[in-house]
Amino acid sequence: MQNQVTIIEHPLIQHKLTLMRKAETSTTKFRNLLKEVSLLLAYEVTRDLPLKYELIKTPLSPMDAPILAPDKKLVLVSIMRAGQGILDGMLELMPSARVGHIGLYRDPKTLIAVEYYFKVPHDVEQRDMIVVDPMLATGNSAVAAVERLKSTNPLSIKFVCLLAAPEGIEHFCQAHPDVPLYTAAIDDYLDEHGYIIPGLGDAGDRLFGTK
Ligand code: URA
Repeated sequence: MQNQVTIIEHPLIQHKLTLMRKAETSTTKFRNLLKEVSLLLAYEVTRDLPLKYELIKTPLSPMDAPILAPDKKLVLVSIMRAGQGILDGMLELMPSARVGHIGLYRDPKTLIAVEYYFKVPHDVEQRDMIVVDPMLATGNSAVAAVERLKSTNPLSIKFVCLLAAPEGIEHFCQAHPDVPLYTAAIDDYLDEHGYIIPGLGDAGDRLFGTK
């Protein structure tokens, strides 16, 4: 489990995450911050992308210069609806990535994930997949989403969140020990409603201003 989980402790991410946690942070600010943090998360998650070398000419000299290997294709999958906030930021950095969506809602009584929407690109078998959802709480949605996505046979899967509860990490790592998990922080615990404490509240509501 230790090798599977990467906590991205970059000071810029930690600073922005603290601003997002504050109850008084407005929807507009929250949205912008999530986008900015997502760029930084994407930077870390794509650290192992392969490069190839191409002969180019600078204004002064020819050079064998590194560029991303063109056959390395990505698909970003947003777990609706809060995943959209991370997706938007990551797409700015990786504009040619394809996008998938999976819609799951938490049954408020059982907290079990129920699928209501699923769409991924047709060529997902030739792509590396990055699945995004800001909050890994019970882990039920993430586990169900990754299980469903595995059935489409992508080349690989990584899971990225902003905040995780220890319970969610444990659940996810047990269910999918083969999927690297990235988070900016691991908080204290889940409350009886499945919220991460101290957390930042409901990420979807804060992102879209629905409460
Ligand atoms: N989903 C959220 O948006 N917030 C939590 O704290 C837990 C799940």
